[in-house]
Amino acid sequence: MRIAILSRDSKLYSTRRLVEAGESRGHTVDVIDTLHCYMDITSNNPTVRYKGAPLPQYDAIIPRIGSSITFYGTSVVRQFEMMGTFCVNESVAISRSRDKLRSLQLLSRKGIGLPRTGFAHHPDKIDDLLKNVGGAPVVIKLLEGTQGIGVVLAETTKAAESIIEAFMGLKANILVQEFIKEAGGADIRCFVVGDKVVAAMKRQAAPGEFRSNLHRGGEAEIVRLSPAERKTAVDAAKTMGLGLCGVDILRSNNGPVVMEVNSSPGLEGIEMATGKDVAGMIYEHIEKSAKPNKTRTKGK
Ligand code: ADP
Ligand code: GLU
Repeated sequence: MRIAILSRDSKLYSTRRLVEAGESRGHTVDVIDTLHCYMDITSNNPTVRYKGAPLPQYDAIIPRIGSSITFYGTSVVRQFEMMGTFCVNESVAISRSRDKLRSLQLLSRKGIGLPRTGFAHHPDKIDDLLKNVGGAPVVIKLLEGTQGIGVVLAETTKAAESIIEAFMGLKANILVQEFIKEAGGADIRCFVVGDKVVAAMKRQAAPGEFRSNLHRGGEAEIVRLSPAERKTAVDAAKTMGLGLCGVDILRSNNGPVVMEVNSSPGLEGIEMATGKDVAGMIYEHIEKSAKPNKTRTKGK
């Protein structure tokens, strides 16, 4: 098959591994810099142009769209969908995954386990917002944060009120969430490809820290999932419409709860922690699923 990876950086571990795994399975793999693609959207013969020439008709696209280029990146993916190319993640699903609130609303509508969460821009009644999620301690999150930055634990009502007021002063959108203390500073990254969890790791926060992000000094190890955890991750991916994603779960007293769904999950952490050929499993999925004109959105 002829496959393109949409990525801004061919030197990244994830991109390199995807090239290596694809080529070792006999595919031709091109890395295309998303921001250097340009498109003729007026013709009825949609194409994507790159470095002065139209790109060939690929059998599949693996989009790795960073959150800073979601708007342009999803329009490139949409153009490939219009050409009938199979995209491992479709444009609409990538856009929805980038909005934490929209994602939580969709997941809650499908009855997927979530931490009790409130959302506010300018709450007049902070005490009511806090009461609704069960009171302090609570986790307060900036809607636009990534890698654990903008995620704060407020241990007391007083602390929660001053943090919420501070964020309000900055006109930021925030989530207020019940603190899942029993997770013990650990979360579970479930790597979903197609309709299966192909690998999972537990990330444990550094001592004295509740955020388990590897960027915040967390450590990762392989973990066995319960059937309920597996089902939660697969249901979350399906609800979001993502063929490839990382579903982050906390182990709560009420069962698994989903924190977020990442549409460009990194390969390095999960392959190192589990020793699995996750990149290879992405190609297994493509080999089974990629058929021309099978995209669901057709660029709409
Ligand atoms: P980001 O998208 O910036 O990584 P997350 O929402 O994933 O932000 O939060 C970062 C980390 O903080 C998580 O990996 C988890 O370890 C911890 N955390 C987040 N929300 C909660 C919560 N409600 N209860 C307990 N721990 C949490
Ligand atoms: N982009 C990384 C991932 O999804 C970030 C996760 C982290 O900060 O731990 O794997």
